[in-house]
Amino acid sequence: MKLILLGPPGAGKGTQAKRLEDKYGFVQLSTGDMLRAAVAAGTETGKKAEAIMARGELVPNEVVVGIIAERIEQPDVAKGYILDGFPRNVAQAEALDEMLKGKGTALDAVVELVVDDRILLQRIETRAAETVGGARADDNAEALKKRLAVYHEQTAPLSAYYKGKGRLKAVDGMKEMDEVTRQIEAALGL
Ligand code: ADP
Repeated sequence: MKLILLGPPGAGKGTQAKRLEDKYGFVQLSTGDMLRAAVAAGTETGKKAEAIMARGELVPNEVVVGIIAERIEQPDVAKGYILDGFPRNVAQAEALDEMLKGKGTALDAVVELVVDDRILLQRIETRAAETVGGARADDNAEALKKRLAVYHEQTAPLSAYYKGKGRLKAVDGMKEMDEVTRQIEAALGL
């Protein structure tokens, strides 16, 4: 199962991806996690990405496309994977399509967690308050708002992109977490 989880910051993609990973063995591939690991390790990629991420902007497409291209070659993703945080714009989606085509394969589904913006802004304020001086440099209110704005501008058009390809499955991300998991499983026929 090759899957994309789509949805704005704070929609619960990470939580749901983790659950699918634990239950079905599909590997969660989070470009955000991979980039944070690169920053922590002080690699060239990390050095390039650090300030951009702290502002809530997108790192260059070739960086994340390269990371994903390498990662999906690893043997541990044989049962499938869940892309979390990638693709984030149409150019990345096109690069992914090309990459998979080159391997003679394609995505199985794109699940969008649909959430209300006003609730997200509330969650954002809470998350920012809880993580003051915390683990993520981009969990301050300003960077979170920027991430939400970037989502609307660059990532939201992916719903139409995948709808056009007949791949999109929308799930109500406002329900409680277990119910969201059930809806994702139903949408995927799991
Ligand atoms: P969120 O919790 O906002 O969904 P992520 O952990 O997925 O955040 O990503 C954190 C940051 O990492 C983003 O704001 C961006 O700077 C960078 N990033 C992650 N994935 C991508 C991507 N596919 N393209 C460009 N930048 C990315």
